[in-house]
Formats: sequence, structure tokens, C-alpha cells
Amino acid sequence: MPQTNDLQNILRTLKKNCPSEDLTDIKRAYEFAETAYGDRRRASGNKQIEHAADVATLLAEWKLSPDIVIAGLLHDILEYSVYSEDDIRQKFGQKIARLIVGENRLDSLKYWGKERYAENLRRMFMAMAEDVQIIFIKFADRIDNLKTLSYLPPEKQQRLAMESMHIYAAIANRLGMDKIKRDLEDLSFFYLEPKEYEKISEVVANYYKDDGKCMKTIESAMRESAKSAGIKILNIDNRIKSLYSLHEKYKTRNRDAKSVYDIAACRIIVPTISDCYAMLGLIHRYWKPLPGRFKDYISQPKPNGYRSLHTNVFCERKVVEFQVRTPEMHEEAEFGIAAHWVYKEKEKNITENIRRRTAWLKELAEIQKELKNNFSVPQTIRTVKIDLFRNRIFAVTPKGDVIDLPEDATPIDFAYAIHAQLGNYFLKAKVNGKIEPITHPLKSNDVVEVFKSEKSTAKKSWLKIAVTRRARNEIRDFLKMK
Ligand code: MN
Repeated sequence: MPQTNDLQNILRTLKKNCPSEDLTDIKRAYEFAETAYGDRRRASGNKQIEHAADVATLLAEWKLSPDIVIAGLLHDILEYSVYSEDDIRQKFGQKIARLIVGENRLDSLKYWGKERYAENLRRMFMAMAEDVQIIFIKFADRIDNLKTLSYLPPEKQQRLAMESMHIYAAIANRLGMDKIKRDLEDLSFFYLEPKEYEKISEVVANYYKDDGKCMKTIESAMRESAKSAGIKILNIDNRIKSLYSLHEKYKTRNRDAKSVYDIAACRIIVPTISDCYAMLGLIHRYWKPLPGRFKDYISQPKPNGYRSLHTNVFCERKVVEFQVRTPEMHEEAEFGIAAHWVYKEKEKNITENIRRRTAWLKELAEIQKELKNNFSVPQTIRTVKIDLFRNRIFAVTPKGDVIDLPEDATPIDFAYAIHAQLGNYFLKAKVNGKIEPITHPLKSNDVVEVFKSEKSTAKKSWLKIAVTRRARNEIRDFLKMK
């Protein structure tokens, strides 16, 4: 039987992550759940309460609030006990009852071929737009279910693994929750491509045999030079990249293990942004950097908000990737949107990348509105699918702000993505310094400068040019107003 967590584990994790919180409610919820689930056992042979405790512990590890941890403990209660939504509301309050009901609603999400997939994803986004915290519970539940997948019939294993890989991991990625994405991918990879999984595991095992020592050398060298430079290293983490991401690299690089540069990554966490740059200087003084592999995601964050300094260096005839970041950047990189709740006390100075993430959520809420109005219109579904699931490109304003757009977006879409009025008064656009027609498809890293006209210019024919729902809605709204 798989190892499980209990109340003590949940409490320990919570105390570590949010020491100021009162944990009486957690204890009360655990005891209630233990009685309510009774003797029910799962296919793995584990008790239902053990699964609930595992899910709650994951949520506590992700530093989510005690409310969400309680909802994690109780997430199967409506299905596997005599208690109703009303009972939960009376005992634990409206918020927890709502989280559980929302999470249960996502259970109808199934992977059934391409068309149903998009439709189901849309349903998931709708629930998420209502309350993004629901998705955290779903992620924790799914990760724990994947760990005991071997106890289910093969057909169900395949379906759950496929859903996790194609739906859940994709959403985690879009929300910048990298740790959760990696866990979902690696756990499902094992079931979807067992032979490949084995191959990659072997490569990694061999790497450890040869290079475990190399990583230790790196660590002590870095600690020493940081100390003499007066930089405080908060944490060094030497790790092998996730199995699935290595597998993806193999596929694109013709399966040559030697050409996969960065099997190992060394992550260094330092207190401040200037420490990050100072640390990078030390790394480059110590080891020769690989040309063209240095990335400054601090001054230019990835569109999902990711920040860090990346560099690849030659180290003892091997290539090692370094990632340097502050603790706050680390939280955001690992837990993405969930980190927003961790830092909620600092809500007043919401950072730029958090703003970008909430902007995306607002867009989700808009979709939800639209779908409620014309629920059965296939056009709506098509638009949602186009906007959210096709590849994204990242164009840049002259000031260096990154604008996240779907493939084939035009300067019109770009203008509306910045501000409705910039779109409505669109005169012309320079792409990389050159005037281009409004139909010009933008590519990633294009620098786009939009010029405003004195009178409004928006017209109906733009509806055929714009590809984003946002631009089309703004154009329609504006033309109606006129
Ligand atoms: Mn469950």
C-alpha cells in the first residue's frame, strides 16, 4: 500500500508554511472527515481519509490558506458520505462549501477526442474564472490519484493519464505553476509512454553515477565564492530536469543524449535582485559561459510571469544550467498564480507579472459571460478555442512590455490588447521600425509601435482582420456606440 499522510503531517506542513494561522479548524475538519468517510477504502487499498490527508498536505505544501486545505480534506465528502452541501455550509461556512461544490463540478471533465476536449476545457476555464482556487484542489486531487493509478484497470489508467497530460498540465503551465506541471507530466508520462519513460530514467541514472560528484563540486565552489563576495545564498538546489521535459528535448534533438545540454540544473536562491546579478557575475568568473545561452528573465520576464537569470556554463567538461532568483521569484515560478495568495498581504504593490496573470483570468471571466449568453453557439466555442489553445506569440512594446497574443495576431490585435482607445484610434503601426499593413501577422519578439489618429478609425472590416476575441468585442462595442 502506498505511503500516506495523516493529521500530524498536514499540521506540520501548515505550521512551517503559515506559522501565524490558527489550526483548530483543520483539526476539527480532519476529525469530521475521518468519521464521515468511515471505513471506505480506495482501489489502492488506502482509506478514503488517507487520500483526503494526502491532498490536504499537498495544498499545505503549496502554501495555500487553511481554508483551501480544509476544502481539500472534505473534497470527496459529498460523494462518499451522508453529508450534503448544506451540512458543510453549516459546519464549515459558505466559502468552503462553495469550493467543494465547484471542485466536484470539474469531475465531469473527461478526455474524449479533440472536439470534446475543447468543450471540456472551456467548462474548466469557466469554473476556474469563478474561483481559481478550485483548480488547486483539483490539481492536488489529480496528482494524488496519479500516484495510485496502477491499482486501476488499464483503460482507466490511459484516460486519466491522458487527461492529466493534455488538460491539467497545460492549464498548470498557462498559470505558471511549474512544479505542479512537472509533477502532472512525469506521473502521466509513465503510463502514456512506458518504454520512453524507462529509457530516460536510465539516462538520468547514468548521469547521476558520473556526475553526482561534479554537482557537489559546483555547490561547494559556489558557496565559497559567494561567502567571500558577501552574498548570502539562501538555498542551492542541484537537480535533474523533469523526465518529461528531457524526453521532449530528446525528441527535438534527434535522440542524441550528448546534445541535451542541460540535464542538470543548479538553482541558486539569493535575497535580492542585485544579489542575483552579482551571483551571475561570480558564476561567469568561475566557469566559462556557453555563448548565446544567457537569458535575463528578470528585466524581461516570460509572458506567464516567470523571472530568473539563466546561464549555461562549461563545468568539468560538462554543461550545467544555472538559474538564479530571489525567494519571491521562486515562489512565483513554482506555484504561479497560487503565489498570489501567499503574498496577499502585499496586495497593494502587486507586481507587474501578477497583474499580467490576473488580466488573463479576467479574460477568462469574459469568456464565461459570453458563453452564458449564447451557450449553444458553435462560433463562440470556436473563438474560445482559437484564443486560448492555439500557440501564443509574444510581441513587445517600444518600452519593453511583453504582449501575449495568439498566433497570427495583427497590429490591430496588439493595439486593442494594450488599450481599447489605442485600437479605436489606430492610425498605423511600425513593426521592428518599419511601417507594416494592418493585416501583417506578428511574430514573437516583434517590437510593435502603434500610432494614434486624432479621429476614431475603427471600422467593420476590421472584424475580419482581428483574430482576438478582445479586439473583435471592442470593435463591435465601439461601432454600436457610434
Ligand atoms: Mn479525490
